[in-house]
Amino acid sequence: MTAPRLEIDLEKIHHNARTLVERLAERGISITGVTKATLGSPDIAATLLRAGVNALGDSRIENIEAMRRAQVQALMTLIRSPMISQADRVVMHADISLNTEIDVISNLSSAAQKARRTHGVVLMVELGDLREGIMPGDLEDMVRKTLRFPNITLKGIGTNLACRSGVSPDAEKMAELSALADSIDATFGSKLGIVSGGNSGNLQWALRGADTGRINDLRLGESLLLGRETLQRQPIDGLHTDAITLIAEVIESKPKPSRPWGKIAQTAFGEMPPATDRGHISQTILALGHQDTDPCGLIAPPGIEILGASSDHLITNSGRSGLSVGAEITFQLNYSALVRAMTSPFVAKVVLSQISV
Ligand SMILES: *Cc1c(COP(=O)(O)O)cnc(C)c1O
Repeated sequence: MTAPRLEIDLEKIHHNARTLVERLAERGISITGVTKATLGSPDIAATLLRAGVNALGDSRIENIEAMRRAQVQALMTLIRSPMISQADRVVMHADISLNTEIDVISNLSSAAQKARRTHGVVLMVELGDLREGIMPGDLEDMVRKTLRFPNITLKGIGTNLACRSGVSPDAEKMAELSALADSIDATFGSKLGIVSGGNSGNLQWALRGADTGRINDLRLGESLLLGRETLQRQPIDGLHTDAITLIAEVIESKPKPSRPWGKIAQTAFGEMPPATDRGHISQTILALGHQDTDPCGLIAPPGIEILGASSDHLITNSGRSGLSVGAEITFQLNYSALVRAMTSPFVAKVVLSQISV
């Protein structure tokens, strides 16, 4: 079969999603299934929906359009603040978008009026991770302005932590978001529908059994696809971490010294070459590189060690086994490796199992 390729096991993704849907339902939280790492794959989207996620979220309007074209029936949220230049496409294809700028909401309102549609807005609040978000002290004013725009419905508020600075979405941060929701409700005499607490980094908090307060939605991607929470990247109990794997083919396999020889300068990617002498090793080269994935995000099978990578070569030490040319090796991936592989035109995507639910 062709290599490199991603093998996507829909049964395992379904199991992961179903398990988290059930565990979070007990805590009063529903899931927006985030598809941004899948390039809008209709197979994966349909699998998440059958497992019971409430809605789909993607950071790219192109992916949302691809899912619409493939007839995926779902509430769809654009989870990155819309570009003004894409306002028309956003109101046409996304039901809701996450927002932080009044000028963007104004443009969404104009676009929605033109298209005779209404567009839902979730206002994102900055709670310390320093990526997107309205400063808490400015939220009330933003709500007031948002409510004035025609063809715009305020759907709720949300926050995103653990992405840029690794700030943990703990009980304190979630209580802060709940309190903001209460305060907006009290001021405006309404009830915010969506209080979206965050991403896969929120699962430690959400599954531990503490009070979840007003939080009723999490936007989950990595945990559904790769079975890990994202604060420590630990496997989540009962979930598959190999629902998606990357397979690459051996193109050279030779015993070689572990240390380069000659006058040493920079490498192709600017890194320093290996310095320690470990004698001869079984050096195995795979046809896989930076153009296909993030080599740093690959998890090799036992007995195989990743030594380095360039744009097209992954260098490994295959230990005593000494793999033969043409052999295939299966890697697990982290999120970075998955995103890069999914979006690489050099990597085939093979769906292993159709789900029959
Ligand atoms: C990517 C993203 C998510 C999903 O994050 P995971 O770690 O994959 O669960 C949620 N919300 C926003 C705003 C995102 O950009």
